[in-house]
Amino acid sequence: MSDLVVKRLPAESGISGWEAISRRCFPVRTLDGDIKADWLIIGGGFAGLSAARRLAKLRPGDRIVLLEAGEVAKGPAGRNSGYMIDTPHNLSSGEYSVAGEAETKAEIAENRFAIAFAAEAAAEYAMSARTFDPSGKINAAATERGMTLNANYGRSLKTIGEEHRFLDASDMREITGSSYYLGGLYTPGAVMIQPADYIRGLAAGLAPKVDIFEHSPVLKLTRAGRAWKAVSRTGSVTAPKVILGVNGHIDDFGYFRGRLMHIFTYASMTAPF
Ligand SMILES: Cc1cc2nc3c(=O)[nH]c(=O)nc-3n(C[C@H](O)[C@H](O)[C@H](O)COP(=O)(O)OP(=O)(O)OC[C@H]3O[C@@H](n4cnc5c(N)ncnc54)[C@H](O)[C@@H]3O)c2cc1C
Repeated sequence: MSDLVVKRLPAESGISGWEAISRRCFPVRTLDGDIKADWLIIGGGFAGLSAARRLAKLRPGDRIVLLEAGEVAKGPAGRNSGYMIDTPHNLSSGEYSVAGEAETKAEIAENRFAIAFAAEAAAEYAMSARTFDPSGKINAAATERGMTLNANYGRSLKTIGEEHRFLDASDMREITGSSYYLGGLYTPGAVMIQPADYIRGLAAGLAPKVDIFEHSPVLKLTRAGRAWKAVSRTGSVTAPKVILGVNGHIDDFGYFRGRLMHIFTYASMTAPF
C-alpha cells in the first residue's frame, strides 16, 4: 500500500443525552511528539477499545497505543441505544432471523461471546448496574400486528430451544406503568448498557496499560520500512502492526472502497429519562 491520506474525519455532532448524564473520570491526553509502539489501534469505539483490552491480556509486555480522532464516548459507541442483544431482532419477515437455523445459532453464539467479553470488563472495572445491566429484553407490542410478530418470533425461538416468556397486557402495565401495550415477549440474555458510561469505563480501565490519545486523528498512514507510520496533527506513531477500528471510515483507509454506504441514525431521550 502506498502513502494513504485520510481525507474525511468524523464530524462532532454535539453532546448526546447519554454523555450529558455520564461522568468522565480520566484525563484527556493528546498525542504530542513522535513515538514507537508494538501495536497501533486507530479508533476508540467498541472495536478499538475491545481490541486493546484483548491485546493487553494476550501481550502484556507490548506497548499498545490507541489514537482517537475525537473523544471517547462522543462517537457512535457512546451515543447508541445501548442494547447488547444476544438473539437477533429481525422480525420483518415474521421469522426469527433472515438466515437459516445454523446461521442463527452461530450468530447468537457470537453475540453471547461478545456479551461475555463485555461482562468480564464491566466486572473488572467495577461498572455499576446503571452502566451494565443484564436485564434481558422485552419486545413490546402495542398493536395486533405486533402481537402476531411476537407470536411468530416466539415460535422461532422455541424451534431452536431459546428461553423466552410471553407477557400479557397486565404484565406490561405492571412493568411500564402504562396501559399502552397489549403484550410483550421477554428474552433473558440481552444486556442494557449506558453506552457513554460503558465506553468511558472501558477506556479508563485500560488507561494504565494502553496509551490512549484523543483529539489525535490519523491523517496519514505510510509504510516506513517494516513498520507503519501514522501521522496526526501534533505527532506520529510508528508500529509494525496496525488495527483499524474506525467503523465506516475504513474506506478512507483504502478498504471497501465504493462498497460502503454511510448511514447516520439518531435516538432521542425523553425528558423524564
Ligand atoms: C443512534 C444509534 C443507536 C444505536 N443503537 C445500537 C444498539 O442499541 N445496539 C447496538 O449493538 N448497536 C447500536 N448502534 C450501532 C453501534 O453504536 C455501532 O455499531 C458501534 O458504535 C460500532 O463500534 P465501532 O467501534 O466499530 O465504531 P465507532 O463506535 O464508530 O468507533 C469508531 C471510532 O473511530 C474513530 N475514527 C474514525 N476515523 C478516525 C481517524 N482517522 N483517526 C482516529 N480515529 C478515527 C471515530 O472517531 C470513532 O470514535 C447504534 C448507533 C447509533 C448511532
